[in-house]
Amino acid sequence: MKLILLGAPGAGKGTQATRIAAKYNIVHISTGDIFRANIKGGTEIGKLAKSYIDAGKLVPDEVTCDIVKDRLNWDDVKGGYLLDGFPRSLFQAEELSKFADIDLCLNLEVDPALIMDRICGRRVCACGESYHVSTLGGKTTCAKCGKELYTREDDNPETVKARLDTYNKMTAPLIDFYAAKNKLATVVCGTKTPDEVFEAVCRVLDK
Ligand code: AMP
Repeated sequence: MKLILLGAPGAGKGTQATRIAAKYNIVHISTGDIFRANIKGGTEIGKLAKSYIDAGKLVPDEVTCDIVKDRLNWDDVKGGYLLDGFPRSLFQAEELSKFADIDLCLNLEVDPALIMDRICGRRVCACGESYHVSTLGGKTTCAKCGKELYTREDDNPETVKARLDTYNKMTAPLIDFYAAKNKLATVVCGTKTPDEVFEAVCRVLDK
């Protein structure tokens, strides 16, 4: 299974991606995670990516496409993969179609009114788990692995506004792009819990 996970910031892509990858035994590839690892490692790509990420903008298409193209050449993706946060522009989608044959683009539709609170209240763990501060009851460590939780640097109101703007301008057109190819499935998240969203996602993927 070769999947794309599409959705506005705060739609819960990361949370659902972790679960989908585990259940369907496919590799989870998050371009955001790849960039953050590069920033942490102080690489040239990391230095370039940081200025765009901090501004809520897209890292240039060519750089991003090269990273994904290279990643999809690894042996571990032969049994399938899930692209989380890629493609994010029509250019990236066109490029992707030159080196990968995607089965389905799963679009997580979130209520725009909920996004700011969801993202600014997000606390993440290095293991990939993600929480909302309102459900932590004051705890500051990950329930799964015990590590200290932290707030992503780009999860602040100003950057979130820019990220939403970027999503609406650059990424939302991909919904029509994949619908026109009969490869789009939309799951409406509304106020559903992550468990409920995952059930809906599985119903789509099990078809
Ligand atoms: P994410 O973790 O998916 O929310 O991504 C965090 C940030 O990384 C985004 O706001 C972008 O600045 C950058 N990024 C992630 N994926 C892409 C992509 N496909 N194209 C360009 N920039 C990206």
